[in-house]
Amino acid sequence: MVKKEDDILIKGGNMEQIIFHIIFKHVKDLVFIMEVEEGNRFRYAFANQNALLHADVTAQCLGKTLEEVLPEEKAKLLQSYYRRAAQSGKIISFHDEVEISSNCKVFGETILTPVKDGVGKVIYIVGVTRDVTQSFKEKRLLMESEQKYRSIVDHSLDGVLSINLSGDILEVNPAAVRMTGYNEELLKQMDISVLFHPEDLPTFRNMIFQTHYGLAMESFDCRFRKRNKQFISVQIKTVPIIIHSQIEGVYVIIRDISEQAKTAEIIKYMAFHDQLTGILNRRALLEKLDVLLKGKKEKEFSLFSMDLDRFKLLNDTIGHLAGDVILKQVAERLSGIHSSGAEVFRQGGDEFVILLHNSSRHDAGLFAQKILAAFSDSFYHDSKEYYLSPSIGISVYPYDGKNAETLIKNANEALYRVKEKGKAHFQFYCPDMNKFNTNVIALETQLRKAAERGEFKLHYQPQVNLRTKEVESMEALLRWDNPELGSVSPGEFIPVAEDTGLIVPIGNWVIQEACKQIQEWRGLCKNGVRVAVNISPKQFLQLDLLNIIEKSLNTFNIPPHLLEIEITEGAMQDTKEAIPILKKMKDLGLIISVDDFGTGYSSLNYLKQFPIDILKIDQSFVKDLPNSNKDAAIISSIIHLGRSLGLEVIAEGVEEECQAEFLKKGNCDKAQGYFFARPMPACSAEKIILEAYQ
Ligand code: C2E
Ligand code: MG
Ligand code: MG
Repeated sequence: MVKKEDDILIKGGNMEQIIFHIIFKHVKDLVFIMEVEEGNRFRYAFANQNALLHADVTAQCLGKTLEEVLPEEKAKLLQSYYRRAAQSGKIISFHDEVEISSNCKVFGETILTPVKDGVGKVIYIVGVTRDVTQSFKEKRLLMESEQKYRSIVDHSLDGVLSINLSGDILEVNPAAVRMTGYNEELLKQMDISVLFHPEDLPTFRNMIFQTHYGLAMESFDCRFRKRNKQFISVQIKTVPIIIHSQIEGVYVIIRDISEQAKTAEIIKYMAFHDQLTGILNRRALLEKLDVLLKGKKEKEFSLFSMDLDRFKLLNDTIGHLAGDVILKQVAERLSGIHSSGAEVFRQGGDEFVILLHNSSRHDAGLFAQKILAAFSDSFYHDSKEYYLSPSIGISVYPYDGKNAETLIKNANEALYRVKEKGKAHFQFYCPDMNKFNTNVIALETQLRKAAERGEFKLHYQPQVNLRTKEVESMEALLRWDNPELGSVSPGEFIPVAEDTGLIVPIGNWVIQEACKQIQEWRGLCKNGVRVAVNISPKQFLQLDLLNIIEKSLNTFNIPPHLLEIEITEGAMQDTKEAIPILKKMKDLGLIISVDDFGTGYSSLNYLKQFPIDILKIDQSFVKDLPNSNKDAAIISSIIHLGRSLGLEVIAEGVEEECQAEFLKKGNCDKAQGYFFARPMPACSAEKIILEAYQ
């Protein structure tokens, strides 16, 4: 049924118009028909119900122009669209915002369709405006979320590549461009797999395979190839791209972890390398042995436990910094030994371990010779020359142990045996060594308690004046009798005492005891008997030493010239430290002698600089006298040197008469040795003194 108001919208309506009117009334769009007049004027000819409701148009506006009906701004804008449609004769569309009430704006999409007469002149323009507020809002939300996504992706520090199911790269973000070095265009022509290290491809392919089934995957350790062919360490994530519940592709997210990888690499390096020498450390050794033993790939291999003979002495005398320099040179030299399959590790201190892969006992023996040969040349520091020798203990897998702990322990035991036998050599492990090793440990334990239990004694060995045959002095030699270990020779326990620092309290006891003895013997003869005490290098550098000596001299009230201090050449190596100590000793009035002269780091320089009184020729030069021409020549030179510097010369280790004769003829002042007397308890020594002065 056509309502009354319908009629007023139609000027001169007919049936067709009525039908159209009904349609126009019920469509939601706003429909206008504008008559086109000369001079680009547009006059309202028709407006449907909705148009009258929502636009600023009333029924009275029909027959009026746009400018007459609408506010100026709006009219101008609309007129420009209408004009374009009229002039071009083509359909024009545009969007605009319409305020339908004070608080409500709608977005309209308008299509202007020109209607032409028989000669092609545009006489009407039909405008249809649709309310697209809803879809407009949806679109805007979509755009916003797209923009948000893009800004996350574009500003992400991680590279993001989207690939299709065939692996073709479809989209990339700027980080991916930066990371790969390829521009966006080149990347989009690539298959993503070419960007991976060949070894990592199986991992990546598996990730993609799983992601095609909807799983997000992660890998922490892949290498990504840059355009410049360099590889960077990356962490990879693959995430499925799901559109309408369908997996359409994969996001590949790449994080550059090369910096972290580098740091991790440095940490790993530091954990497995020795800081001083840069070679592998003990931890690396244990790890290697673990892999080797678990893998069971090698039927035989050998382990060399090596340390440097008398290195502690060298370290104490030339200083730790210089000692470090020498250790570095040792590490270099060991690493440079030409042999396939040898790995060098530093255990700590002067201890090294060498792992010789795939080696039989015979191979190990040959390699040990190479190590010894590597030390035949001297080491240099600060233009000074140092000779070092290594002692080496060897264990061979599987015969000497089937696990790392046993192999290391047995190589160490073999090393102890070499040390005990005289150093500078190598030795294979053999099972009965265990006994020996427990002895070293027992020795240290017992040594700690020896002083308080009163197990130490001093023996005295007379020093005989070769011209007068008189005994004017004695050397005090330490003796240790232990209920468990029996009588232990100083050659065995002094090095342990030096290593453990026990030498200091033990040495102090020796000084006191010797002073006490000097005092007792003072009454036996007019001039008293001089007693020489041995001072180890460690003890020599002890700050308290002078105080202790002075205190003992005072306590027993003895003249200082009756106490002789025997030091080895090693103790005098560091002239800066040694000179002031020796000078103070001299100022105290003590006698100073150089023990084992000719065997240490002999330097004629110290003879000139140091306030020395006595040279003690080492027994190794005396041993083969008088047959050895070389020894004879050396001894003659030392005597000559000593005498010309005004020093007393004493020869040690005189066992035979012919040796004593030779020395006497050579003008040696004194001699000491089994030929005259063995070291003896104080009471026996006393008898000798009494006999000599009766
Ligand atoms: P040293 O000071 O060179 O002492 C001489 C060593 O030669 C002594 O060995 C002595 O018993 C030994 N000897 C003496 N005459 C002969 C001989 O005719 N033939 C042979 N083959 N040997 C002879 P000992 O008592 O076993 O001492 C060994 C080393 O232990 C000493 O060498 C000295 O370096 C050290 N020592 C001994 N007592 C002490 C001490 O109280 N303190 C320190 N720091 N070291 C000591
Ligand atoms: Mg001595
Ligand atoms: Mg000596």
